[in-house]
Amino acid sequence: MPSIDLRSDTVTLPTPAMREAMYHAEVGDDVYQEDPTVRRLQEATAEKLGKEAALFVTSGTMGNLVALLTHCRRGDEAIMGDNSHTFIYECGGASVLGGISMHTVPNLADGSMDPAQIEWAIRGDNVHFPRTRLLCLENTHNRCGGTVLSYEQMHRQIEVAKKYGLAIHLDGARVFNAAIALGVKMADLVAECDSVQLCFSKGLAAPVGSALCGSKAFIDEALRNRKVVGGGMRQAGVLAAAALVGLEQMVDRLAEDHANARMLAEGMLDIRGVNVDMNLVQSNMVMFTLNSDKPQEQVLQELAAEGLRVSSMDSLHLRAVTHLGIGEAEIKQALCIMARVLGGRKAGAV
Ligand SMILES: *Cc1c(COP(=O)(O)O)cnc(C)c1O
Repeated sequence: MPSIDLRSDTVTLPTPAMREAMYHAEVGDDVYQEDPTVRRLQEATAEKLGKEAALFVTSGTMGNLVALLTHCRRGDEAIMGDNSHTFIYECGGASVLGGISMHTVPNLADGSMDPAQIEWAIRGDNVHFPRTRLLCLENTHNRCGGTVLSYEQMHRQIEVAKKYGLAIHLDGARVFNAAIALGVKMADLVAECDSVQLCFSKGLAAPVGSALCGSKAFIDEALRNRKVVGGGMRQAGVLAAAALVGLEQMVDRLAEDHANARMLAEGMLDIRGVNVDMNLVQSNMVMFTLNSDKPQEQVLQELAAEGLRVSSMDSLHLRAVTHLGIGEAEIKQALCIMARVLGGRKAGAV
């Protein structure tokens, strides 16, 4: 039996429909803005998000970097969560390349930040301070375990930032998961954000690519910054074609990933050696800790040897992510493997 890979939804492979669309994609030179498929993807994405324009970029990391470079000048400051992807997993790119300082505010367990703490972090007009320009939010929140922020939760954080004239960027790598979990329209959820980055390469299963969305003026400026970081691509329509299939055909399917993550988490409640907080299982991720004498590294190796791969988030937390190709059978199999490696099922569990 092939191994069940729950490390991330980025391990998904392009679907047959994507390969077909890539094969037939009409292409041109996108640095001249003459690739019709890239243009279609950008228009369709902007429309779905209710924004004026969108820009196809190579990755979520590039989308966030280009957004920060466009919102901030050298010496400016962006406020973001201390568990945000941009702060933790993007090599400090905004500082390395943009001279932007990242001012962190603690992320709460649900992935939000306390509006009072955001307000406290915003600098006054003082020659000693960097200028605070930007607030970055993340939805769903990766390191908090795929937690979903509602419009109201985002609004409470955005409201204070807007009071001080800050721009708002949303790292929406999995914002489709958030909209599906909430049962709301994407455009409504992100209405108050000036820019949004989203990934086609995660739950939507496209092989490569993200989009940065915002106003026409913002995207015109972002186009230059994408060029600065080497993100101008030529016949990128072969990639955009797959992303378009993701956008058009794979969004509603995310509900299955969420149901499967719940099924996995509920099953894990019966296994002796793991702890799961069901309140935080809100999209396609299950974050868990071990309750075992075995060190984490050994557990990961034993699970892998039995055919189950999960990822380590830090020395305490492990993560399992559901995605295309993971169905009920794979979840049951994953639970059997966990039970075997982690001390069996609790008494009374079926
Ligand atoms: C995956 C991810 C990114 C970055 O995407 P890459 O395409 O891997 O660069 C950014 N933000 C969040 C929240 C993510 O989960």
